[in-house]
Amino acid sequence: KKTLLDVRDLKMYFPLTQGLLFQRTVGHVKAVDTVSFQIEQGQTLGLVGESGSGKTTIGRTITRLYQPTSGQILFDQHDLAQVQGEELRQLRQRIQMIFQDPFASLNPRFTIGTLIAEPMQIYRQGTGKEIRERVAELLRVVGLRPEYSDRYPHEFSGGQRQRIAIARALSISPELIIADEPVSALDVSVRAQVLNLLQHLQQELHLTYLFISHDLSVVRHVADRIAVMYLGKIVELADRDELYAAPQHPYTRALLSAVPIPDPQIERKRRRIILTGDLPSPINIPAGCRFHTRCPMAQSICHEKEPAFEPKQGREHYAACHFSEQIAKE
Ligand code: SF4
Repeated sequence: KKTLLDVRDLKMYFPLTQGLLFQRTVGHVKAVDTVSFQIEQGQTLGLVGESGSGKTTIGRTITRLYQPTSGQILFDQHDLAQVQGEELRQLRQRIQMIFQDPFASLNPRFTIGTLIAEPMQIYRQGTGKEIRERVAELLRVVGLRPEYSDRYPHEFSGGQRQRIAIARALSISPELIIADEPVSALDVSVRAQVLNLLQHLQQELHLTYLFISHDLSVVRHVADRIAVMYLGKIVELADRDELYAAPQHPYTRALLSAVPIPDPQIERKRRRIILTGDLPSPINIPAGCRFHTRCPMAQSICHEKEPAFEPKQGREHYAACHFSEQIAKE
């Protein structure tokens, strides 16, 4: 299988400045702090973490809304961190984002037909007639009627607006979709419909997804592999079923223990892990293991030594914890 996206040692630090006239840098917000992962073509990687963990910044850095501080973002072997100008424009066409809030991402002054057509016009794909036909086809593909194209975003429900945002993202036939909390703003009753649509489109169009969410129960439905982020780093990465069945990082365990399981027998046996304290500031990342201030299993080594997150040969399950092997045997 082909690796479509290969992110290597990505860092995204935002400078903190002081002073109005003479600004000086007094520190950095380490939003993404040495992150590596790959996604194979046609697969979905779920990127999970609390708000402030850096997952949204990763999505925005891949689409080059931000210029990364360092690292590589190899998309189909082109390094998005390095390319500029026309080459960047061409590559960006192959990557589209879907955002959390379909209310904010669709300009209320335009009809949905205009909004869906806009990316095709920007990238000069087709004549006026071809674009109109494609808009009608896209509306059908996302489960809406083609005759809706003259209506405005406010005439639609949240779920329908997210379908419109999906149609717009698909209009220029991207290969990679970065979906940032695509169902979090929707009513629970329509979430499953939008998730099913995304999965259906993935199969039909052979799309690759980076699916960003704070919600492990949502990611479970859509992801092939899952990466768990904490304070700018991936702390665990594994196949979905493996991660849910045998998490090796205490943070993943804590997140999973908060997700209700419909089976009462499993639910009774599970040990709830309650995390204490708040997420530390990404300006002042704790020394050693960055999770030690909240980890129920922390030992003295955790305060001093940062655990490695190294892909080991022959292993598909990585966890950045000094005790991950011990946890795996429990
Ligand atoms: Fe907890 Fe220590 Fe493992 Fe970090 S290295 S997750 S503090 S046990």
